[in-house]
Amino acid sequence: MVYICRPMRQVFHYIKGCRLPGHGTRLGEVFDPARGQAQAQVPLGGIAELNAAAAAALAAQPGWAAQSAHRRSQVLFRFKALIEEHMETLAKLLSSEHGKLLADARGDIQRGLEVIDFVCGAPQLLKGEFSAGAGPGIDVWSMRQPLGVVAGITPFNFPAMIPLWMLGPAIAAGNAFILKPSERVPSVVVELAALLSEAGAPEGILNVVHGDREMVEAILGHAAVKAVSFVGSSDVAQHVYATAAAAGKRVQAMGGAKNHGLVLPDADLDAAVAAIVGAAFGSAGERCMALPVVIPIGESTAVALRQRLLVAIKQLRVGAADDPLADYGPLITAAHKQRVERHIAMGIDEGAELVIDGRAVSVAGHERGFFLGPTFFDRVRADMRSYQEEIFGPVLQMLRVDSLEQGIALASAHPYGNGVVVFTRSGEAARCVAEQAEAGMVGINVPIPVPVAYHGFGGWKRSAFGDLNQYGTDSIRFFTRTKIVTQRW
Ligand code: NAD
Repeated sequence: MVYICRPMRQVFHYIKGCRLPGHGTRLGEVFDPARGQAQAQVPLGGIAELNAAAAAALAAQPGWAAQSAHRRSQVLFRFKALIEEHMETLAKLLSSEHGKLLADARGDIQRGLEVIDFVCGAPQLLKGEFSAGAGPGIDVWSMRQPLGVVAGITPFNFPAMIPLWMLGPAIAAGNAFILKPSERVPSVVVELAALLSEAGAPEGILNVVHGDREMVEAILGHAAVKAVSFVGSSDVAQHVYATAAAAGKRVQAMGGAKNHGLVLPDADLDAAVAAIVGAAFGSAGERCMALPVVIPIGESTAVALRQRLLVAIKQLRVGAADDPLADYGPLITAAHKQRVERHIAMGIDEGAELVIDGRAVSVAGHERGFFLGPTFFDRVRADMRSYQEEIFGPVLQMLRVDSLEQGIALASAHPYGNGVVVFTRSGEAARCVAEQAEAGMVGINVPIPVPVAYHGFGGWKRSAFGDLNQYGTDSIRFFTRTKIVTQRW
């Protein structure tokens, strides 16, 4: 028998408008999570690649900043059109490395595009303020100037959306950008960078450097990098925040999450169940705005909710991205699947009631894929470690309380504070949750309250370190410095 060995696909850095293999010898494996096998190799770079990217960015940035905001937004308009033109290819590539369904992959790109849409309004967003006659013959006005070279470090779960959240506002504001994507899903951003070049951005305005912790540390210590935007898990976010701030950089660092959904007795239960199941298990629960905790208010709500959840969860189908009937795909890696399974075992040991166990699931034709079936726990308690920690998988935990006040207090006491959601027909109860919940984003009969591009995205407590949110007008503030001029004529 003759074996034909296909060489593995190589992922390249993107520096100064070119795809480059890098200088080092360290390589990471990029998996196809649905098949459970490596499909590509990514270079794990370090200071040499970062120096090259920083040099390219430093050379390109002044010219880019000198162009009018209108000219820069013309490039972003073309960028958006090119992404739309290549949507299917990008979505397939994204889905092959992440494992999410094709519809979710398109959504990932689409939500990022909405931020590009928003920053196409750069001339308006960058406008300063003017106060005529602040004193006799005195006017005061302000302008927003770019920071220079700025960097983004992104997680695996939204391979296109989160990079676009960051690079769009940064580049629109006149900065040059260095992106370090997750080494587990490195390819799609290289294609995005090439499309930005095709749209007319000068070489060096967007550079992609691959790597792991070594590259992150190099970015945090690099003198050319004036600001760092980070999204990932909380311990890393806190480290990035402290290290970059100590090095004098501006920093925003979004962390993990454990969002709570409160269900009141007056809620439309059928609608709530459909929403909860989609938010808890969609994209295999690997969303920072997933809904992994549900809190029915009162015993009769708990009984009715549990019954309906049981039926809905049992109907879920796990499958590969090209399975048109699948509700969600595999987890990102074997190691992450094992971590989620450990949390399920922990929940059982801690005394939670395992109502549906997804650990034995197998997908025909994809037996080695990192799939995990939907798992549902009832009678979870707040002191359980499996509740306190982020699981980031297809696991829904139900806690029972007697009153809305107790539900709000429970959600608010959790260490993470990305989102709290309430299902109710009562405006008064909804208002109470919106006002009192200790979280950055609230949903009222909306299970995943990710704000639209012209608002902003950010959590509280261990879900975010720093003051300014991702996208929206906060992102323009984050990526610019304000200068205020007092003039007498
Ligand atoms: P992660 O923290 O492992 O990785 C994020 C980035 O940090 C990657 O680029 C990675 O290479 C780098 N990194 C990892 N470990 C590091 C270390 N020890 N030192 C320096 N850099 C390191 O996160 P992930 O697993 O890729 O993504 C999932 C996490 O991201 C979840 O906790 C999820 O809740 C969170 N997340 C948060 C948001 C938000 O906006 N709050 C959005 C998406 C994901």
